[in-house]
Amino acid sequence: MAVVVEPPVVAERRSLIGLDRTALAAWLVAQGEQEASSRLRARQLFHWLYVRGATRPDVMTTLPKSLRVLLEERANLERPRIVAEQRSEDGTRKWLLRFTDGQEVETVFIPEEDRGALCVSTQVGCTLSCRFCHTGTMPLVRNLGPGEIVAQILVARDALGEWPSAREGRLLTNLVVMGMGEPLFNYDQVKAAILLALDGDGLGFSRRRVTLSTSGVVPKIEAWGREVGTGLAVSLHAVRDELRDELVPINRKWPIAALLDACRRYPVRRPITFEYVMLRGINDSDADARELVRLLRGIPAKVNLIPFNPWPGAPYACSPAGRIRAFAAIVEAAGYPSPVRTPRGRDILAACGQLKTASSRPRPQRLERAAAS
Ligand code: SF4
Repeated sequence: MAVVVEPPVVAERRSLIGLDRTALAAWLVAQGEQEASSRLRARQLFHWLYVRGATRPDVMTTLPKSLRVLLEERANLERPRIVAEQRSEDGTRKWLLRFTDGQEVETVFIPEEDRGALCVSTQVGCTLSCRFCHTGTMPLVRNLGPGEIVAQILVARDALGEWPSAREGRLLTNLVVMGMGEPLFNYDQVKAAILLALDGDGLGFSRRRVTLSTSGVVPKIEAWGREVGTGLAVSLHAVRDELRDELVPINRKWPIAALLDACRRYPVRRPITFEYVMLRGINDSDADARELVRLLRGIPAKVNLIPFNPWPGAPYACSPAGRIRAFAAIVEAAGYPSPVRTPRGRDILAACGQLKTASSRPRPQRLERAAAS
């Protein structure tokens, strides 16, 4: 009778990316590490992951050999797979990243003279469907976990050669949570990821150099300011509810007045950035500019005018340059800085509102099969 040899059961290796020191210590204790030494080991591991950018345990020379072996067997330090990298003629870089379940997001690095911003995604697809946004044509496939959000920073640092992480002279200085997805509809995981990015013993981003952009999840805005305290950007894009209901559908749940009230209560002493995409003949009149100024009264604010970035099948056109200048002049005259955002990475579909991947929701049968396996 043939003897069937069962292959050894290899427990899935736990991804440690996205865990803070407390969670790392708890995981180490669960693997048998002494409670007394777990905090020291967690601090060392945290340093290797977020200051040295280590992706293999064998380079973690400050850890005992036995722990490195254990990590080899039970921990996953891998980055998401880079499916594609594109470089724009203006220096902007875009990565298409694939996670272990096959879902994909895009991440964009925008270098400037004296700084460099990474635009991170927080959802595969998006909960919302803003009409001017390419991501909005995707359904929400799923939220990203803290590790998948932080991994975008690690991938960018790898590509920029920014390990060990230095305090001065960095290329990647700023984080903008403006990629794919509505971050406040993935609140807890985005909060965990950004708090990790702000940790001075790790990735060490300054709160002043991190901005979260929301389309208007009113109940979460004040909480974000209190619990994380980064800069805030609000996707406003229209000054009348009927138009904003169409352009930014979340407005039907929380209209402009409720959104601006939440902004007045935002507990971070920095001007809020109101993002305003310039759509030809839709929201770019002088009357719109005057109404915008009236609405912002009493809010420390600046207005970021975004020339519309086209994408295949988009139902809008960008306002002419002269119209944008005229709009900005009205807003500036009222005392609100109104810089016009220079489109970056348009040639590789990396500019604002252009991100999209081929990810789609797994079909029910595939979910059942996945659940059964
Ligand atoms: S603008 Fe933001 S919230 Fe709106 S569809 Fe695009 S990614 Fe989603």
